[in-house]
Amino acid sequence: MIYIMRIRFFALWALMALTIVSCNLASRNTIPATQQYVVMLSMDGWRWDYSDRVPTPNLDYIAQQGVQAEYVKPAFPSKTFPNHYSMATGLYPDNHGIVDNNFYCPDLDLVYRLGDRNSVENGAFYGGEPIWVTAEKQDVTSASFFWVGSEAPVQGIQPTYWKRYDNNFPYTQRIDTVIHWLTLPEEVRPRLITFYYNEPDSQGHRTGPDSPEIDEKVMEMDALVGVLLERLRELEHYHKINLIVTSDHGMTEVSPERYVDISQYTPRDWYERSHGGNPILHVTPKEGMLDSAYTMLKGVENISVWKKSDVPARLNYGANPRIGELVILADSTWSLGWGKPRDTYYTGGAHGWDNAKKDMHTIFYAMGPAFKESYQHGPIEVVDLYPLITRIMGLKPAPVDGKLERVKGMLK
Ligand code: AMP
Ligand code: ZN
Ligand code: ZN
Repeated sequence: MIYIMRIRFFALWALMALTIVSCNLASRNTIPATQQYVVMLSMDGWRWDYSDRVPTPNLDYIAQQGVQAEYVKPAFPSKTFPNHYSMATGLYPDNHGIVDNNFYCPDLDLVYRLGDRNSVENGAFYGGEPIWVTAEKQDVTSASFFWVGSEAPVQGIQPTYWKRYDNNFPYTQRIDTVIHWLTLPEEVRPRLITFYYNEPDSQGHRTGPDSPEIDEKVMEMDALVGVLLERLRELEHYHKINLIVTSDHGMTEVSPERYVDISQYTPRDWYERSHGGNPILHVTPKEGMLDSAYTMLKGVENISVWKKSDVPARLNYGANPRIGELVILADSTWSLGWGKPRDTYYTGGAHGWDNAKKDMHTIFYAMGPAFKESYQHGPIEVVDLYPLITRIMGLKPAPVDGKLERVKGMLK
């Protein structure tokens, strides 16, 4: 009797063990990190809730096959250049040096502007270590179809394959090139690809985040994600590819009726320099004018003004010498500038505000061998993408501000 019970017990134990092993096999990441690919697509200015308002079957598919985060908090200021470079480096703008879309750089005595090729392609502006530099240093080939920082040598290194920015380069042809890169012979094939679209940001600026036009644009961009997915699926090594779809910030509606003309309170000629752009300016008053300018602006409604050393710590902003002596930020949905508002500029949408504001938050979707399936993750930050990708690909990371702890729960 005891003998039969023992056999039954053993059979039950064996069955349980088998079930545990097979469950683990199904949910385990069986591809070694050093063989996994990462394709990261950023669709500029995709507010966290756009995908809830209109059908986005392709993003839904990624969420169902993989992971969706509740939202991504951008770095401050919630603008394109600081954030794409934070995604690439895992550092806040204070620490990577791209402190705005335009700024003055005292060590180089040069102004950086996003539309100026001489700035964008000058490696001296870019601090930290972009993920493609980490990859190339460790003999992993990388490619970039447009990404802030990829057009300049950083630490003397660029992605093996890269493109000079061209806003009008057709979207589906960008996909053709990404797929071409992924079909190159293994010895020269990139294992890391960063990839960028300037929409729905441009549409969001033109018509605002609540317009029917933005709904249309969001559906159009989702359809492009569908094309990318279809093309990736045809690849022999599809099962080794992780696809991340994310963005840099959200969008909020502006109006010329909610506008603060800074020159009404302090004349423009009090200042030696003014950089940034709506809704944030960082300004350097002329010699001896700092306290007067600060006191005058302190009393103005609908804006905040800080001496750079007093910017709230949660914004991680103010330590970098490239930031002006005073940081002036409009309240959420308010605009600011020098002189009367030009109607055409302060209608539609904008971004750049306090990154705690919900409207500034953006999206994260990911699927592939490294990611859990049908998994809803909590909020993450743009700086967390670097530690996430280095972990997936088995790369030794540089020191960063991003936290692996905040994202590792989404990995198998
Ligand atoms: P903003 O909305 O002002 O923060 O910036 C968004 C704009 O940045 C987009 O409309 C693009 O045209 C532009 N942009 C993005 N990446 C690059 C790049 N690598 N070089 C030049 N311009 C870029
Ligand atoms: Zn942007
Ligand atoms: Zn924008």
